[in-house]
Amino acid sequence: MSYFPNSQNQNLHAFAFSHLQAEHTRMKQKPLVIWMTGISASGKSTIADALEVALHAQGLFTCILDGDSVRGGLCRDLGFTEGDRDENIRRVAEVARLMLDTGLIVIVALISPSSASRHYARSIIGNEHFVEVHVDAPLETAEQRDPKGLYKKARSGLIKHFTGIDSHYDVPIFPEVHLNTQALSVEQSVVTILEWIAQRGTQT
Ligand code: ADP
Repeated sequence: MSYFPNSQNQNLHAFAFSHLQAEHTRMKQKPLVIWMTGISASGKSTIADALEVALHAQGLFTCILDGDSVRGGLCRDLGFTEGDRDENIRRVAEVARLMLDTGLIVIVALISPSSASRHYARSIIGNEHFVEVHVDAPLETAEQRDPKGLYKKARSGLIKHFTGIDSHYDVPIFPEVHLNTQALSVEQSVVTILEWIAQRGTQT
């Protein structure tokens, strides 16, 4: 079997680079990928930002992979068809995996609408390092917030394939963490995630 289970190429073999373990020891933290999924304006970026501040306050090393930033660079060639969305998620998962290997706590804020692609991301990252956080808000609430004016554009037909309007969102069935951002403040959502991380342990 190839060392890369998701690759078609049977001739690839991952070299066991010795720096990886050393990095983990130096950082003294358990690496993790916190994968935030939810419809637009549910609160993913806002909570990711506040979570990163809180993790830094604990002396932990982090990195955020945010949907809009990623689409502006790494994935700028991709659109919003089902195939392109899957490829967007695959690339982010692969980058998150690389960051995980350097010992970081990676926070991903990505709509990631299909459960199949989230499952695929989990398989790339590894179940023991993957925490799925469903950032949940009713469509009406998200539409009222509409911080980027995207729902308005989608309703008027200016944006096609918009999740929740004319593109489907698979509600996570068993996320590790569920945040109802209509009921929880940003701070409460951050505390909920921190509690989950603390329970797992932050130090190597
Ligand atoms: P997403 O990244 O999911 O598209 P954003 O974080 O960009 O969402 O936008 C969410 C908006 O909702 C922000 O303007 C934020 O201030 C607002 N908001 C209001 N209440 C909450 C809450 N309880 N949790 C998260 N965001 C909230």
